[in-house]
Amino acid sequence: MTVRVRFAPSPTGPLHIGGARTVLFNWLFARRQGGKMLLRSEDTDLERSDVKWEQAIAENLRWLGLEWDEGLEVGGANGPYRQTERLEIYKEYLGRLWLGGHVYYCFCTAEELAAQRQQGEGSFGYSGRCRHLAPQEVEQKLAEGLKPTIRFKVPKEKTVVFQDLIRGEVSVDTSDISDFVIIKSDGIPTYNFAVVVDDLTMGITHVIRANEHLTNTPNQILIYDALGEDTPEFAHVSLILDETGRKMSKRMGDMSVEAYARRGYLPEAIVNFLALLGWSPDEEKEIMPLEEIVSRFDLERVSKSPAVFDFKKLDWLNNQYLQHADLDYLVSLSHPHLEAAGIDAKLSDEWLAYVLGVVRDELNNLSEFPEHVKEYLSDTVIVSPEAKEHLLLESTPLVLDALTERLKDMEKLEQDACQQMLKQLNKDLKKSAGVSGKAVFMPIRVALSGATSGQELYYLLPILGRERALRRIESAQAQAGI
Ligand code: GLU
Repeated sequence: MTVRVRFAPSPTGPLHIGGARTVLFNWLFARRQGGKMLLRSEDTDLERSDVKWEQAIAENLRWLGLEWDEGLEVGGANGPYRQTERLEIYKEYLGRLWLGGHVYYCFCTAEELAAQRQQGEGSFGYSGRCRHLAPQEVEQKLAEGLKPTIRFKVPKEKTVVFQDLIRGEVSVDTSDISDFVIIKSDGIPTYNFAVVVDDLTMGITHVIRANEHLTNTPNQILIYDALGEDTPEFAHVSLILDETGRKMSKRMGDMSVEAYARRGYLPEAIVNFLALLGWSPDEEKEIMPLEEIVSRFDLERVSKSPAVFDFKKLDWLNNQYLQHADLDYLVSLSHPHLEAAGIDAKLSDEWLAYVLGVVRDELNNLSEFPEHVKEYLSDTVIVSPEAKEHLLLESTPLVLDALTERLKDMEKLEQDACQQMLKQLNKDLKKSAGVSGKAVFMPIRVALSGATSGQELYYLLPILGRERALRRIESAQAQAGI
């Protein structure tokens, strides 16, 4: 049996971190089992659904590297993959339910349903009142032009039992499920009906989805049974909580994948982080590229307990990925962040790669990169009060003049050449003036950066380049009046 899984978002908003984790677990399972993943749009909420969200979700999935094998934008033999384009298929399955006597028209209006509930009829759901309408009554109401819903007849005194691959045995008594609507009065199927028909006709073998759908599963199983069809396997992935143990909330800020991309997290780091939200490998290990996760992924190691979203861990993982990523790749990802920060100077990719290589250890994410770039683009320095004393040493004018001279003699400020030059300068000044070590390097550092600590000078000089380094020295000299 070839494994077939699906990701079935409702295109009513952006892809959130929780949805991304669901799709990741589907994707990992499919890859591990040599199966296929398909993408379909559950767009039966006509008011809130919009193809723009389908496109955005597809784009986010591609950005995360979670390509699907069949479905939206890709096509395949089981389409269409948008529920609103599958109405004929639902009609056919509805016909089977009518034939088997599993459904009935319900003419109760929203007000009537509310009144019934108030009178204690069907206090936990629908009373079942229209189940018993006589055929002539139904005919008459239809002839009057009333627009009924279609409800599923939930069999009485039955227990629905299934083995959830994550949660174990789940058992629900049908006395806890009231007759539910499968076709709304506008003729559009509800989620529970459409999802069953889609999963059946698309040959889905494993339904891996968010835990919030666990309570829908017995209803869906009843529909499979009524159709005389086998059910797929189910796996319900637990909730994601914030650090205080509450359900992911607005307080956590914008939790869309898009927002994380904007904040400069690398897709590889997000995927690694999401994999660990609920799943753990057999050995303690945190940093795992996708290929390795695929080779270890197993639904048995997905936890039943809610996962906690740890922002610090995400920052740490992202930093680890930043430290090891290919620099040209990081440069390409950094462009939108530089633009967003309003840096319009023409910066070569070669220069950006060098700066990234120097500062990436300090970055939690790429949106922090522009601050560093801005700092290096300035022709002047602001000498901090505590740094100034290093410029006021008697020997400082000599040191800075000597540095200026040497910089003017250099063709290009390359790292090795700068390291060599600084070493030689120190040696020469020691010999000629008895000045060396801190008395040489501190004034140089302050003149080039305004501060007493920072990057190695032989990194800083290549970043600044000769002209800017010289202008900075002049600006520091002016501030110190030397
Ligand atoms: N459209 C549902 C949602 O976005 C998916 C339900 C399912 O996977 O069965 O929550």
